[in-house]
Amino acid sequence: MPENAHVYDYVVIGGGTAGSVIASRLTENPDTTVAVIEGGPSDVGRDDVLTLRRWMGLLGGELDYDYPTTEQPRGNSHIRHSRARVLGGCSSHNTLIAFKPLPSDFDEWEAAGAEGWDAASMEAYYARLLNNIVPVDEKDRNAIARDFVDAARQATGVPRIEGFNEKPFDDGVGFFDLAYHPETNKRSSASVAYLHPVMDERPNLTILLETWAYRLELDGARAEGVHVRTKDGEEILVRARREVVLCAGAVDSPRLLLHSGIGPKADLDALGIPVVLDLPGVGENLLDHPESVIVWETHGPLPENSAMDSDAGLFVRRDPGHPGPDLMFHFYQVPFTDNPERLGYERPPHGVSMTPNIPKPKSRGRLYLESADPSVKPALDFRYFTDEDDHDGRTLVDGIRIAREIAKTEPLAGWLKREVAPGPDITGDEELSEYARKVAHTVYHPAGTCRMGAEDDELAVVDPRLRIRGLDGIRIADASVFPTMPAVNPMIGVLMVAEKAVDLIGDDAR
Ligand SMILES: Cc1cc2nc3c(=O)[nH]c(=O)nc-3n(C[C@H](O)[C@H](O)[C@H](O)COP(=O)(O)OP(=O)(O)OC[C@H]3O[C@@H](n4cnc5c(N)ncnc54)[C@H](O)[C@@H]3O)c2cc1C
Repeated sequence: MPENAHVYDYVVIGGGTAGSVIASRLTENPDTTVAVIEGGPSDVGRDDVLTLRRWMGLLGGELDYDYPTTEQPRGNSHIRHSRARVLGGCSSHNTLIAFKPLPSDFDEWEAAGAEGWDAASMEAYYARLLNNIVPVDEKDRNAIARDFVDAARQATGVPRIEGFNEKPFDDGVGFFDLAYHPETNKRSSASVAYLHPVMDERPNLTILLETWAYRLELDGARAEGVHVRTKDGEEILVRARREVVLCAGAVDSPRLLLHSGIGPKADLDALGIPVVLDLPGVGENLLDHPESVIVWETHGPLPENSAMDSDAGLFVRRDPGHPGPDLMFHFYQVPFTDNPERLGYERPPHGVSMTPNIPKPKSRGRLYLESADPSVKPALDFRYFTDEDDHDGRTLVDGIRIAREIAKTEPLAGWLKREVAPGPDITGDEELSEYARKVAHTVYHPAGTCRMGAEDDELAVVDPRLRIRGLDGIRIADASVFPTMPAVNPMIGVLMVAEKAVDLIGDDAR
């Protein structure tokens, strides 16, 4: 094979949520060549992936990298972090709840040193998104979810919201906006919206599927490309004439940097990985949205209709001085007892769940390597519920109490037979906290592990133009660059990061 067979203008590592956007946008120019290195297979023609309501079937399956967490002394040590191994990444696996980050989220990024990422400047990128973002369709609105919305409004006094993305909110309850096609329940994932329409038509776009990137190729401080292993086990070097764009997500982007010798020097030395660049922030600032669960048995089976079994939610602002909501709930039309069962609770034949969720968690975790072998999964220590003031733990306790008030309120109350978990006898702060933390789960929002910050911020991994500090020819664009966690579900934020990255790449190519 000729030496130049694997040379492209841009090499995008990860054909996931952000990577799909970037590859699609860059190849709008027919003179620009792009290779996408994607660890998973294509999602084209796969109903198990493309049908939104089948999302739970993907958890832990062959399309899930399935990362464990380290022991969590104050939380649940059994959480598995699903990360999708398929074109479209987690947008091909998730529930596609679609929230534009709140203005306070982006303004917080700017205040954290991400110059140019304020809410007003970011608005244009939301307008560019190609995904079909629509409220949960009328036919998908289950009767019990409608009654949850009414009961929550009455019990908490928050407004009912129709179209959460229309204007900023501090609190409210309603059906979510989703990135989906209601007529078929088909996903409007990043791959469906950005790659499917163009991938067979653009000779300048090469997608290397089931190909794993295991080490960056560096010449001094310049990223030249990436070493990959193809589906057939062949090891090749894919070179970038202009830039490498790292889009492997909040777990695999820092993982690849660390295996390439870019990260905290002492950690790399300890593992015998030759240090290329001492960048202490790589893997730090591991963020997530943890949530707990309260489960009720219903008097009988529920109506079947739904978009994806968690179609409505509630945002509460307990502290009037807080910018935006400080407590959130998903309402599940299923009895979500996976974690309570470990404590001895039983799954009822029919039921529903409310999941108090921490929009702005204060605990910060860390991702690190335990082996120099790139095939060994990294350690994820989220340090759940370790913040000094116990803001995170207390949020869950408040959440359970509010959930109980909602459950007592008609029209929801009439559906519910009994509280299964934690059960009506658990009422004290201490015991509620213990329960809430031990059954806590993730909604799979890891972020922040290569966070963006000002050029002189020692712990920032990328600058506000998404360039890795201290290197040339490489940017990161995915959930790992989030300086802080948005109060809402992060996927739209990731898509907006990707759209902005395309502008930044374009500016620097001129
Ligand atoms: C089950 C689940 C439900 C969720 N629900 C929602 C929701 O409803 N709303 C919401 O806003 N967010 C949700 N999220 C979170 C959201 O999907 C993610 O935050 C977002 O999609 C992350 O995008 P990303 O581009 O950072 O990474 P990803 O989309 O994960 O993309 C990374 C890509 O890189 C590939 N890759 C990784 N490492 C390598 C490597 N070394 N070599 C080659 N390829 C590699 C992967 O295969 C993947 O395709 C959910 C996530 C999950 C898993």
